[in-house]
Formats: sequence, structure tokens, C-alpha cells
Amino acid sequence: MTASAATLTASPLLRQFADRDTGALSYLLACPESRQAIIIDPLLEHVPLYLAVLDELDLKLTHVLDTHIHADHTTGSAALRTATGARICLGDCCGADGYDQALTAGEQLAAGSIALEILHTPGHTPGCLTFRWRDRLFTGDCLLIGGAGGTDEPGGDPGRLFDSITRNLLPLPDETLVYPGHDTQGRRVSCIGEERRQNPLFSGISRDEFISRRAAGGGQLPVDMKKHLAANLRCGAPA
Ligand code: FE
Repeated sequence: MTASAATLTASPLLRQFADRDTGALSYLLACPESRQAIIIDPLLEHVPLYLAVLDELDLKLTHVLDTHIHADHTTGSAALRTATGARICLGDCCGADGYDQALTAGEQLAAGSIALEILHTPGHTPGCLTFRWRDRLFTGDCLLIGGAGGTDEPGGDPGRLFDSITRNLLPLPDETLVYPGHDTQGRRVSCIGEERRQNPLFSGISRDEFISRRAAGGGQLPVDMKKHLAANLRCGAPA
């Protein structure tokens, strides 16, 4: 091996997928050496796209993760497991059935050289998780770009959401990148420093103010919420 070849190491791979209809964002992470891959928050209707990208990049999907039980789309987890043999990994407090591996806060999930730290960030739902990988966060519907997830869905709790974000996420280093589970304005990534300084829901806002604004807000519930929740409690498997 030449000196230059020895010092050149392939970078881990990260791809983001955006759903135009719902603003949902999904992620593919892969280890360049083992070719093992993780998908976070897949949508059922985009499973053929994920499979094509995995094939194109010569990757083996080993783990499918959902940050929480989604109410606005049906997860592609079960379909991806059927197609690839990947393990479905879900939070141990999300209330779903049929997954293969429980994700527990404080533990790590590894696929080759990719290691995700599991953070419990409840509030949007009781079982919401954030995944931390190096200097990046996959926040699901907890911290969003210039916003935060709704708290009107079953189990939503504004106080817990405020605590999750202000105690667990905003204290992280400024340069930590924030990859949310949704953005309806076409934005794709933010960083903790920007959110701490500019997020209008948290910058200079007290916990009580946040809770009273949420109580007055009257957020809209997703279309077909009951159908999606029921499917997602089965990991997206057909009834
Ligand atoms: Fe959600």
C-alpha cells in the first residue's frame, strides 16, 4: 500500500430524502468499509427509491430506525425488512409491536463504523428519540429548524418537549448539525448554535410561556392520523 493510499480513508456516507407532500425527511447512513447501512424514518411510498439507492451504492441495509411513532405517514420499516432482512429498531417506550431490537436511551447502535448514540427526547410523543452521530443530530419531530414538533398528537406534552430541547439538545456545541424529521419550507439542515440563538420557540422564551403558547395554538392534526398511527404501531406491516 502506498503512503497516500494508507492515509486516504473513505468517509461515511449520508443521504437525505425529502417527501414533497408531507415535508418528511429520511436519512441513509452507511459505513464505507463494511458497506452496512442504516435508514432513519423511511416512508412506505419511498421504499422502492431507498432500495434503488442501496443497490446503486452497493450497500447492505442492516438497521431501520424510526425516531417515533409517526402520525403523518406510514413507515417503510416493515417493507424494508421484508426486502433486505434489515432489523427494525424502535424505542423501548414507543408502544409498538413487531420490531426486532429495542433502542434504549444512553446506549449505542452500531453498523460497521457508524455508531449512533440514542437520546430520549419526549414531548412530541412520549417515546421520541434523537440519534446523535458524531457532530450530527437526527432529531425526528423534536427540534425542527426554527421550530419544534407538535404536541397535539396522542401523548404530546409541551412541558416535556421544552425540557427535551432545552436540557438535552440546545446545550450541545454550536457546530452540532441538526437534521430534522420534517421541514415544510424546503430547508434541510441547521446547527445548534443557530437554533439556540434564533429559534423563536426557545430564544428568550420561558417554559411557562412555551406551554401557554402551545395551549393557545390549536395545532392541526395530520391527515389520516389514525390510519398512520395504527400502521406504525405494527412497524408499517399490513393489518
Ligand atoms: Fe411526528
